[in-house]
Amino acid sequence: MLANLNDVLYPAKKGKYAVGLFNAVTLELARGIIAAAEETGSPVIMGTAEVLLPYGPMEELSYFLIPMAKKAKVPVVIHFDHGLTKDACLKALDLGFSSIMYDCSTDSYDENVEKVREMADIAHSYGATIEGELGHVGDNEGSHEGSSHMEDPSKFYTDPAQAKDFVDKTGVDALAIAVGTAHGAYKLPPKLDFERIKTIANTIDVPLVLHGGSGLKDEDFKKAINCGISKVNIFTDINIAAVEAEFRAFEYMEKGIIDLVPAAVQAVKMEVRKKMELFGSVGQVYSNKADIHALIEQVVKEVMAQYKK
Ligand SMILES: [Zn+2]
Repeated sequence: MLANLNDVLYPAKKGKYAVGLFNAVTLELARGIIAAAEETGSPVIMGTAEVLLPYGPMEELSYFLIPMAKKAKVPVVIHFDHGLTKDACLKALDLGFSSIMYDCSTDSYDENVEKVREMADIAHSYGATIEGELGHVGDNEGSHEGSSHMEDPSKFYTDPAQAKDFVDKTGVDALAIAVGTAHGAYKLPPKLDFERIKTIANTIDVPLVLHGGSGLKDEDFKKAINCGISKVNIFTDINIAAVEAEFRAFEYMEKGIIDLVPAAVQAVKMEVRKKMELFGSVGQVYSNKADIHALIEQVVKEVMAQYKK
C-alpha cells in the first residue's frame, strides 16, 4: 500500500528501528526492493533523487513506482529525495509521489527555513510528507548525489537548538541531519557523532534521517538507530550489488539482456534484505493493526482472484 513518511517513521521512532530508503531508478531496483520488503514484512521507502533524474526520468518512473507501491502487501513510501528545485518537487507531488525532500541545506539558514516552510504547506495540501535538511551532508568523491566534497565536514554538522527552531518554523515531517556521514563510497571509514544524534533526538519530535549510509559498519548503524535515527538512506550499496551480479551473469549470458535482469533483481533484493535486518524493520508491518487488516484483505483478494481463474 502507498504510505507516506508519517505512516512508517513514527512507528519506527517509537519502536527504535529504522526504515530504509532505497533509490529505484530502474525496474530491476524497484522489483528487488519491493520483493525484499514483502518477504521480510518490512515497511520501505523508495524513489529517486533530483541528481538521479538523468538515469530515469521522473514521469516514467512514476508510471511503475506508484502502482507497485499501491499493489504491495507492505507500506511503501514513494519519495523524491534531495529535491533541489521547487519545480522538481512540485512535479513529484503532481505525479503522485507520497513524499518529497526539499534540500535547501546549502542556502543560508533563513532561506532554508523560508523555502522549506513554503514547500511544506504545498506538500501537506497533497497529503504528502516532506523532509528537510539542516547542516549539510557532504559527498564522497565520485558520488552520484553531488560533488560538495568538504575538507572539514564537522563545520557543517547540525546544531540541535537550530534544528528545533527549523522544525518549528517549517513544519517538516522528518529532518536529515549532518553527523559525520557523506554520500557515495567512503575511502576511509566515517566517524559518526553519536552524542549529537542523541541530543537532536531529545530536542525535536520529528523523526531523524541519516544520509550517506552505504559503507557504514553494522555497529555504526545499530548505534545511530539506538541514538534516534528513524530513516536511513542507501543507494551506493544496492547500485554496486546490482552491477556486480550483472557482471557475473554476463559470463554465462545465453539470451542477452534478459539474463542480466533476474541477476540484478536478486542481488538488490538480497542487499536490501540485509539492510532491513540490520535496521530492525523486519516484521514491523505486523505490529500495526491497520496494516495487518489491509494485508489480510489483500491476500484474500489475491486468493479469490486465482480461484476465479
Ligand atoms: Zn542524501
